[in-house]
Amino acid sequence: MLEQRRLGKTGVSVSLIGFGGIPIMRVGVGDAVKVIRTALKSGINLIDTARGYADSEEKIGAALKGQDLSVFLASKSPKRDRPGLLEDFEKSVSRLGVDAIDLYQAHCVNTREDFDKLMGAGGGHEALLELKKEGRVRHIGITSHNPEMLKAAIRSGEFETIQLLYSIVEDDAGREIIPMAREADLGILAMKPFGGGSIEAYEIALRFVLSDPQIVALPGMASVEEVRKNIAVAERPSALTADELGQAARIKNELGARFCRRCDYCQPCPNGIPISFALHIPSVRQRVGDTVMKGEAYRDLYKKLGACDECGNCEERCPFDLPVMDLIKESRSILAEVLE
Ligand code: SF4
Ligand code: SF4
Repeated sequence: MLEQRRLGKTGVSVSLIGFGGIPIMRVGVGDAVKVIRTALKSGINLIDTARGYADSEEKIGAALKGQDLSVFLASKSPKRDRPGLLEDFEKSVSRLGVDAIDLYQAHCVNTREDFDKLMGAGGGHEALLELKKEGRVRHIGITSHNPEMLKAAIRSGEFETIQLLYSIVEDDAGREIIPMAREADLGILAMKPFGGGSIEAYEIALRFVLSDPQIVALPGMASVEEVRKNIAVAERPSALTADELGQAARIKNELGARFCRRCDYCQPCPNGIPISFALHIPSVRQRVGDTVMKGEAYRDLYKKLGACDECGNCEERCPFDLPVMDLIKESRSILAEVLE
């Protein structure tokens, strides 16, 4: 039985890890259903997804269909206006196959302009309040990568949960935002505890996040093996030792700030480039050497990278302000070295 944690003022208790719904975008429906059901049967009782995660909501809907499993469902809309958010909500309930959603979040509210639009007259926040009044949304939350917008959201008193980046490589929130959220009794959901897949030391990474007893971590999972690994760590959420803290600091140092979180917010690329896959080429080289990159998948990627016409769409969409086009060039030149 996994430890249950109170999700702030929602008053609901959920498992200390939830199921992050991004990675199931990359697997087929059958596999996604298997992974989700394994997670739920292993004691995870929160699933977090979003309108923006391609077919993630549909796959979750398929996994829940006909099952007698109790689950706290969270989804999100990126719309800032009332009609847009209401429309998104109808899509979410229909894809998930439910009448109501436990937690509906304003997604990725990263700029002041976005926040003001959301909270202003005719904004998405009005829609969230209406849906809550009708009982179709049980709780209201917000997600952001911007500390200033998270502070604004906490101060507004209008949200019951916040979802933020928190991991051994992005630990700033621990100094100001998390204490503020705790003080305001907000539920705290930590996204990307593994830096979107960039941190391989998963045990240290997950224990670091879980060592705060008021945080619920949302690791993404795309295989039964990943579910089992995460459950095994969550069953013993002990604090990091001094040695492990040193290891965490070294990992943070090595990764720096220019790493891809594999969120795929930069997609779709008009030229079909699998951007997050491409951006991991330097770390693949570092971890496993060049040999693996001589395989078919990397040859195919190399060909695709040649199609980048520097339209800049991906950079505009990346919430982490990564210089995506430069990083693609770096990956392409590594592949050229290996393959030509
Ligand atoms: S800049 Fe290149 S990788 Fe980025 S969206 Fe445009 S074509 Fe795709
Ligand atoms: S480039 Fe940016 S938006 Fe695209 S997957 Fe990486 S972190 Fe996400």
